[in-house]
Amino acid sequence: MTGPRSAELFRRARDVIPGGVNSPVRAFRSVGGEPIFLARGAGARVWDVDGREYLDYVGSWGPLVLGHAHPEVIEAIREAAADGTTFGAPTEREVRFAELVRSAVPSLERLRCVSSGTEATMSALRVARGFTGRDRIVKIDGGYHGHADVLLVEAGSGAATLGIPGSAGVPADVARNTLVVPWNDLPAMRALFAAPEHRGKIAAVIVEPVCGNIGCVPPAPGYLEGLRELTREDGALLVFDEVMTGFRVAWGGAQARFGVRPDLTCLGKIVGGGLPAAVFGGRADVMAKLAPEGPVYQAGTLSGNPLAMAAGLKTLELLARPGTYERLETLSARLEAGLRGAAERAGVAVHLNRVGAMFTAFFAEHAVVDYATAKQSDTARFGRYFRAMLERGVYLAPSQFEAAFMSLAHTEADVDATVSAAASALAACSSAGA
Ligand SMILES: *Cc1c(COP(=O)(O)O)cnc(C)c1O
Repeated sequence: MTGPRSAELFRRARDVIPGGVNSPVRAFRSVGGEPIFLARGAGARVWDVDGREYLDYVGSWGPLVLGHAHPEVIEAIREAAADGTTFGAPTEREVRFAELVRSAVPSLERLRCVSSGTEATMSALRVARGFTGRDRIVKIDGGYHGHADVLLVEAGSGAATLGIPGSAGVPADVARNTLVVPWNDLPAMRALFAAPEHRGKIAAVIVEPVCGNIGCVPPAPGYLEGLRELTREDGALLVFDEVMTGFRVAWGGAQARFGVRPDLTCLGKIVGGGLPAAVFGGRADVMAKLAPEGPVYQAGTLSGNPLAMAAGLKTLELLARPGTYERLETLSARLEAGLRGAAERAGVAVHLNRVGAMFTAFFAEHAVVDYATAKQSDTARFGRYFRAMLERGVYLAPSQFEAAFMSLAHTEADVDATVSAAASALAACSSAGA
């Protein structure tokens, strides 16, 4: 399956880079086989170093909503690069970027740019703690918010894929301040807030408003509203980690789609337009605690990097055009319907969750509503499906516990080709051990 050049590069990579990869899920551990090394991408397609072409539903794990190497984004990066790549001083692009992001996400009364989603969530929680004077954080079982110590507790994404619920190297003293409850379970969240030992000690609840890192699992009706009410009553802050959902499930993110206004929001992935940029922000009174206005320290040499701002600005400008999210919805709904039909015809139990242009086909008999039900999926069958799709030229995330992403570069013909590939892949992987 893996071509000779990929195999050779992986051999060299393993010698110098732990696991041969710079982020764990890229190693294909949970699906078997070895990773393909990619050489280039254009639109909805990528090519590996052995010259094989794939239809891409990874999109660099979320950022590439316009597809690979969008000409206008590349031109914006080129223009910015010609002016110099970094200054460590304020630039006009940062202001324009921040204004555009706020116009799309009005709850971001004040925002700051950082370079990764990890930095965004880490900084948001620090300012939440600084503002409330409280230490405890509540997160969701299987929620993934990057790899800051405080958030690597029962985490999703690669930690879920590799079965590492609590990372080694995170001090127990740090993990103790992180409380974990199941997704979509409002009574559990209520019970936590009602417990005498936590009263007045919870700084923030951080959630992905659509879970994406245990695979795509939407919020139950009323769940996000319930979190809003509960945190407000308690004086804890509600933090939406929209690193994945921001500008993915709607212009303005999940908070626009579901109509719930958090106190703080984290953005990443799409806002960087394929370069390293992320955002955290929210209520002006909370963000006023940040240095240099306030006592909460946060900084970054490359924060608001000119190239990343240029790529992000251009990406958001293109997304702001009328009809983009309708187009993503149409394409994604077409794929969803096609996959459902293909699974039914193949007689394979698949539970498909989708919110806009993010979706996951769980190999599960039952509805997937939280991490516990996601974990009941047949991951061995997923592995066979993944490999069968790759052989048929469709590149999916190499884990059952990840979302797939549609881009504006995909076409109806691409979607139909994907459905045909899936029909044949499902037939091939329906027999055990195939
Ligand atoms: C990807 C992701 C992060 C981490 O972002 P990085 O840029 O990889 O550090 C955080 N939160 C969510 C919801 C994500 O999907």
